[in-house]
Amino acid sequence: MKKVDVIIVGAGMAGLTAAGRLEELGLTTVVLDKGRAPGGRMATRTIDSARFDHGAQHFSVRSPQFREQTAHWMRIGVVNEWFRAASLTVADRRIEARHIGAGGMRSIPEHLAASLRVETSTTIDRIDLAPAGVAAVATSGEVWNAAGVVLTPPVPQTQLLLGRGNVELSSSVEEMLDTVVYDPCLAVMAHLDTAAGLPDGHLTPRRGPIAWMADNQHKGISASPAVTIHSSPEYAIARLDADSATWVAEMTDAAQSHLAGSIIHATGHRWRYSRPVQTFDVGAVAAGPGVPVVLGGEVFAGARVEGAFLSGLAAADQLWGVL
Ligand SMILES: Cc1cc2nc3c(=O)[nH]c(=O)nc-3n(C[C@H](O)[C@H](O)[C@H](O)COP(=O)(O)OP(=O)(O)OC[C@H]3O[C@@H](n4cnc5c(N)ncnc54)[C@H](O)[C@@H]3O)c2cc1C
Repeated sequence: MKKVDVIIVGAGMAGLTAAGRLEELGLTTVVLDKGRAPGGRMATRTIDSARFDHGAQHFSVRSPQFREQTAHWMRIGVVNEWFRAASLTVADRRIEARHIGAGGMRSIPEHLAASLRVETSTTIDRIDLAPAGVAAVATSGEVWNAAGVVLTPPVPQTQLLLGRGNVELSSSVEEMLDTVVYDPCLAVMAHLDTAAGLPDGHLTPRRGPIAWMADNQHKGISASPAVTIHSSPEYAIARLDADSATWVAEMTDAAQSHLAGSIIHATGHRWRYSRPVQTFDVGAVAAGPGVPVVLGGEVFAGARVEGAFLSGLAAADQLWGVL
């Protein structure tokens, strides 16, 4: 059995931000993640000489807290600006900078994880309330004890691990979680024989199966021609449980006409919980009044990297208020 002040489940942007904040407040933390590396949906994969961001593609900055944090990352060389464009989600369509991790999107969570205790390849099976706080039980049988826990997986995964333990959600939180729906996304990582030739390094075809294409060489993260192709939500819903060979072939066929170079090899990745269809503007929620189990993640603060960051801060502050 291992003991810390706070357990954080999920080493994505929300969980790592929450851990950093709690450490600043003087608490000891451990961040547990089922993945092989930190980052969650801020994911980067290297295949031979090609490197692909296959989850989040870039991020914009709207809040003062995230602006300050991003400026710091830029000063120390963790984040670069990629391009500027009008926002599609803000009413005044203001021009916003799109930022990226200097070595790929994962390099940001990797930077955050470097100063924290993060245990990867650790799947949490359930959370229990224990006499002195909480216990997190891993599928390996390992148990961590703490005064409180922050849970940041996508909501259906949080519901699963809570459902196996003895934490009772208040009825309002339970109802809130039951309304959450995520769009899936199918991602294809395509190696090209020559440069991709996408104008400004990215494209939103808006027709057929493809929603987004990005040139990872143009981003400055890949030594060889490497394009990420993301499906539309509608196409992903239709093909989510199909054999990956089917949708990789369909998506590469549809992508080829937009590219200067020819696709010579392609690998697929399924994002079952890509982005929540709707989000709550609450920051984070406690399982119930006074219960040291706080739920965070982008669904509570905006379906973007910035939302995950803001939710991480809010989750840490909520738990601090309960402990
Ligand atoms: C294809 C795609 C494209 C996107 N594009 C953009 C974009 O361009 N710009 C933007 O701002 N945002 C984008 N996003 C959204 C952005 O990536 C997310 O909003 C953000 O990264 C979510 O962070 P999070 O910490 O809330 O969750 P996550 O990053 O999902 O972290 C949750 C973590 O919990 C872990 N976990 C789950 N269950 C367990 C368990 N039982 N035990 C242990 N660990 C567990 C997971 O492994 C994961 O690492 C995109 C997302 C996807 C998938």
